[in-house]
This record gives sequence, C-alpha cells and structure tokens, in this order.
Amino acid sequence: MKAYEIMKDIFIVGGPEITDSRDGCVYLINMEELVLVDSGAGWSVDKIINNINELGLDPQKLGTILLTHCHIDHIGGAPEIRKRYGSKLCIHELDASPLENGDPILTAANWYQTAFYPTKVDRKLNSPEEILEIGGEKIICLHTPGHTPGSLSIYLDKDGKRILFGQDLHGPLLKEFGSNLEDWDRSTKKLLDLEADILCEGHFGIYKTKKKVKDYILSCRRQYGVQ
Ligand SMILES: [Zn+2]
Ligand SMILES: [Zn+2]
Repeated sequence: MKAYEIMKDIFIVGGPEITDSRDGCVYLINMEELVLVDSGAGWSVDKIINNINELGLDPQKLGTILLTHCHIDHIGGAPEIRKRYGSKLCIHELDASPLENGDPILTAANWYQTAFYPTKVDRKLNSPEEILEIGGEKIICLHTPGHTPGSLSIYLDKDGKRILFGQDLHGPLLKEFGSNLEDWDRSTKKLLDLEADILCEGHFGIYKTKKKVKDYILSCRRQYGVQ
C-alpha cells in the first residue's frame, strides 16, 4: 500500500502495510509546518521521508513530532528525524522518562529485539488537555492513560470533520507497560464522547464515519469487559 491523503492536508505516510511491518502508523498533518504523529519503529525513516516527498510536501518543514506514547513502534524513528530536520519531540511527561532513559522494557524495545538510545524530549505535555496552536490552527492533545501512563490521543476539527489520532487505544493492557484498566475505561469513554468522524488508529488503519469510529472503540471496550 502507498502513502496517501486521508482528507485535505492529513496523510498516512507510514505503517505496517506502507513502510515496515514493525511500524505503528505514521500520520502527517500539513499546517504552517508539518506535524508528524508518531514516527515508526526506526528502520523506515528513509521510506517515511520518501513518502512525504512523493506527496509533494517538504520534509524540511517537519517542525513537530507528536509522540502518542513511549513504545518503540511509535517513537523509533523520532531521534533520526529530529537530527535531520530539527523537529521538536513532544510527548506526555509521564511517558517521557522511558525515552530519556532508553528503558528497554517501558519502550518495548526488548520485544522488538532492538535498543532505543536515551533521547531528550523537547516538550513534555502535562495537562489533561493541551492545545498546540500552529499557524492559527489548533491540535488538541488529550491525556488518555491506560495503555501507558502518558498515552495521548490527538484530535483536530477541520472542514466540518473531527479527526482523532487514537493510536494504541486498543491496548494491549500489560503490567510491564504500566497499563491501567480503570484509567483506560475512563480514557476510552472520553474518546467516545468526542464523536469523531475519522479515527486514525495506530496499527489497524483508518475508520471513517462517526458510526464506524464508535463501533470500533466499543469493540475494544468489550474486549476488556467494560461496557
Ligand atoms: Zn503500537
Ligand atoms: Zn503501544
């Protein structure tokens, strides 16, 4: 599958079927600068950059990399992309220390039989809801703990549609990741309340229409026995 434009100025540029089976999905928002949502597992930076070029966008404008949480399939490419383009790495503060310490368990690098070297974070988000303003447009970062303590869900309203980047909202919920079912229950309820029109998910692609987004989140909740 090739990278493509999901709706005006929102793209998928990486993921298991696009760049590398080990990558979580990588999304791109074209604003005054380019905002990358997650960065793949690290082996596919060149492919991601190629895709951005092929879509007619300029990777030199990659100003911000928003990391939804601290797992290697989402953060692995971020240090190299920052090195090339000077992008700022943003993550919730509760998921920052695994990156800064290169923690092999909490980053899940062990699982992927690789290493994540200690990496400084440029901006740590620390409120339940943080608004990033870029060129007059807003990206809202919701703290939605559950899968990890610092998981973020990101959304924006554009052309009458609400687009939600939910990444690993499906879990898994594992003790070694610091997952918490009660937090996850609250967080997924918050995501339902958003009534998003499009869900850009971390491993399973894109759900379009309000109903499909809702059904998907509800199916995840049933899987963990919460209604
Ligand atoms: Zn993932
Ligand atoms: Zn994860």
